[in-house]
Amino acid sequence: MKTVIIGAGFAGLSAAHILKDNFIILEAGARPGGLCRTEVKGGFTFDYTGHLMHLRHKETEKFILKHTPVKMNKIKRKAVIFSSGVYTKYPYQANNYGLPPETVEENLTGFIRAKLNNKEDKSSFKNWCLSVMGEGISKNFMLPYNSKLLKHPLDKITLSWLGRFVPRPEIEDIIKGIEEKGKEGAGYNASFYYPERGGIESVIRGIYGPVKDKVILNTAVKKVDLKNRIVYFSSGEIKYDRLISTMPLKKFLMLTGNSGYIKAAKGLKARTVYSLNVGYKTASPTDINWVYVPEPEYPFYRIGFPHTFSTYNAPAGLSSVFAEVSVKGAVPKNIDSEIIKGLIKMKVLRNKSDIKTSLPLLLPDAYVIFDSYRDSTVPEIEKKLNAQGVITAGRWGKWEYSSMEDAVMEGMQAAKKAAGGA
Ligand SMILES: Cc1cc2nc3c(=O)[nH]c(=O)nc-3n(C[C@H](O)[C@H](O)[C@H](O)COP(=O)(O)OP(=O)(O)OC[C@H]3O[C@@H](n4cnc5c(N)ncnc54)[C@H](O)[C@@H]3O)c2cc1C
Repeated sequence: MKTVIIGAGFAGLSAAHILKDNFIILEAGARPGGLCRTEVKGGFTFDYTGHLMHLRHKETEKFILKHTPVKMNKIKRKAVIFSSGVYTKYPYQANNYGLPPETVEENLTGFIRAKLNNKEDKSSFKNWCLSVMGEGISKNFMLPYNSKLLKHPLDKITLSWLGRFVPRPEIEDIIKGIEEKGKEGAGYNASFYYPERGGIESVIRGIYGPVKDKVILNTAVKKVDLKNRIVYFSSGEIKYDRLISTMPLKKFLMLTGNSGYIKAAKGLKARTVYSLNVGYKTASPTDINWVYVPEPEYPFYRIGFPHTFSTYNAPAGLSSVFAEVSVKGAVPKNIDSEIIKGLIKMKVLRNKSDIKTSLPLLLPDAYVIFDSYRDSTVPEIEKKLNAQGVITAGRWGKWEYSSMEDAVMEGMQAAKKAAGGA
């Protein structure tokens, strides 16, 4: 059974570890890793924005830690929200300590009303927030933050991506979080692993090593003949029995030449992320890992501090920050100056001359839009592709919202399916 894998990110490389034999990986990039690559500039180490390893499953944890060639530090998350000029702990809904009294009142009374109403409205993300979190928390965080991130009407966003990603507090948690600073630990990512050296790409390098002879880099798949099971790329073609695709589903469908798939692909939506990474000349006193920024006056929805993931991410005594901006369409021309202005306003930077180096990075299709079209179309497509010998895996292969660990798991599952002839 010959298997061809498209893509050498976490999903494709993990599939390779299971298959062992009779497979090949075609990777468009010059290095494996997809978005889990790392760039070094001016002595600063920058990932494609924050890529922190949250491990929840024994099998994948063992696999990832075993293969990572450098020390993995386990770090207790310090994440905060910046709103009304105040930093509050993550998650916002359970940590209102320090917010202006009228905001706290709005959040608390809204939450109590929603609780008393006791009707979870699942008709859209917006309605779900209002019915479960209440008006205040929705208005002051959930809706502005997610609007900024998704750049799509929230009454058109469905709930199928929510899963573990949005913590739902109890009333006791909310009251505790108003009275005192609250403790870390709530939410799906209370701690994370991060390589001591080499950024997140160190993990990729470790997983890539044992299978690298089977990976053909700089080789973008250009066409897929589903009927005759042939993959075409710039310098040749390969016949397959099973195809594992981890490249973005939307783009994969366009390569099939099938008019039904091409039509379906056109309705799938995603947002690009523009990330400005800044190395600065001074030491930052902060030990905060990242900050959610819901207010519309700031262009970014989140900033983070790579030097807090590992001290080796910045030259001794210096610091770094990344800012993530969600983009629908073209990246605005003045985006860098708007980001820098925002960072100065937040007092993350003192002034422009603080900047030693900067590196813009673009992450296409970063956030899939979960609308009713995606929810009904993707499972149908997946079923049809499966029947044609194609298995999809990974965040973009499955056109979903998921993590590096999920990609590892899905890659392994896809390989087992392919090897079993399913
Ligand atoms: C802003 C942002 C922040 C994130 N932060 C985190 C985090 O903190 N923690 C976490 O666990 N996850 C995080 N993720 C998710 C993480 O990036 C993904 O889960 C992971 O990269 C998915 O790996 P993959 O193998 O499925 O996809 P990819 O890594 O994208 O692999 C697919 C590969 O296919 C290749 N390819 C594409 N087209 C072709 C073609 N035509 N021919 C051949 N090859 C092709 C690509 O070059 C790529 O290498 C984040 C994602 C984003 C967007």
